[in-house]
Amino acid sequence: MLSDDFFIKFARNLKVNSMPDSEVHFIKLTHSEPIDRTKNRLKALFKKAGLDKILSPGEFVAIKAHFGEKGNVTFLDPRYIEPIVRMVKASGAKPFLTDTCVLYSGARDNAVDHLLTANAHGYNIETVGAPVIIADGIIGKNETEVEINAPIFQKVAVAAELVSANSIIVVSHATGHITVGMAATLKNLGMGMASRKGKMTQHSISKPIIKPERCIACGTCTRSCPVQAITVTEKAFIDESICIGCGECLAVCRYKAVKFRWNSTAEELQKRIVEHALGIIKQKNGKIGYITFLLNMAKDCDCLNKKSAIMLDDIGVLAGKDPVAIDQAVFDLTKSHAGQSLSELSFPGIDATVQLAYAERLGLGSRKYHLIEEEI
Ligand code: SF4
Ligand code: SF4
Repeated sequence: MLSDDFFIKFARNLKVNSMPDSEVHFIKLTHSEPIDRTKNRLKALFKKAGLDKILSPGEFVAIKAHFGEKGNVTFLDPRYIEPIVRMVKASGAKPFLTDTCVLYSGARDNAVDHLLTANAHGYNIETVGAPVIIADGIIGKNETEVEINAPIFQKVAVAAELVSANSIIVVSHATGHITVGMAATLKNLGMGMASRKGKMTQHSISKPIIKPERCIACGTCTRSCPVQAITVTEKAFIDESICIGCGECLAVCRYKAVKFRWNSTAEELQKRIVEHALGIIKQKNGKIGYITFLLNMAKDCDCLNKKSAIMLDDIGVLAGKDPVAIDQAVFDLTKSHAGQSLSELSFPGIDATVQLAYAERLGLGSRKYHLIEEEI
């Protein structure tokens, strides 16, 4: 167990510029507001939060978004990205939209399908005004290892083009999440910007088990497992020494026969996500800003390939330079609106505050913040 002294020194050495700036700028918004008015208010919020100040003329700016899995209906409306692109262009910089390949099979597990999905969901140059580039290459192997020397990882593997970009604007959509309780800014940073290897390293502690009483030995999971860890005779069996914890079998089993051991792994997974977020933040040296939407807040994240239940009414948009403060504000605002936070409503068995506490301890930001409601 590492001492408090270790964490104090670690956070001090990180020198993230967001630490003294725990201001979170906020506008109320619902998705029924006329889009032209919303676009103008988002541009004003960008400026109020000082995000234009981190950009310089001529540099490449990655706008990290999530285009939504095929079949998902609650992903962020791309028309909300267009004013962000405009603000980046107004600074003289060169914006591009980006995301990374996912681990499970679907319509975003390689760059070609991912771009087609993004285009089908309106994330294209016509709608948002910037090209879309998948940051970790065609099959998620285009990566850069960043040295972090943190408690779990010495190095983390992140998408190469996010390292190549001079600055990043992280656009997140707050939702519940089946493995970490809440997916917002830190999840978008840590998991969403990792390469395939980085994602596997995060998930590799979450090895599922088969519930034999439910398994009908159909073999679907065997065919989907990327590392041939599952054999099926009378029932499916997972060889834990081979399993990489990607969760594919959980996604494809139609009989609820595959189960993650949530409570033993959610905490560790959140810490691993935070250490990958650290890899991105450390590498960007202050040239990173955050915009997080509290609209269409579904039980499941935008990776789900079907409709997910909306857990609470639209609240608004948060912007700032401190990802921990923003995610704490997501937690607090949803709790004050609904009596329970987004994660408590979505997955009450998971303590999503682990990611906030660990990120603060490592020095990624502060859970204490000043919420500034902008009248714009
Ligand atoms: S997909 Fe589900 S039911 Fe089919 S073999 Fe695998 S665990 Fe059993
Ligand atoms: S057995 Fe392990 S590696 Fe194979 S699909 Fe399931 S989680 Fe992934």
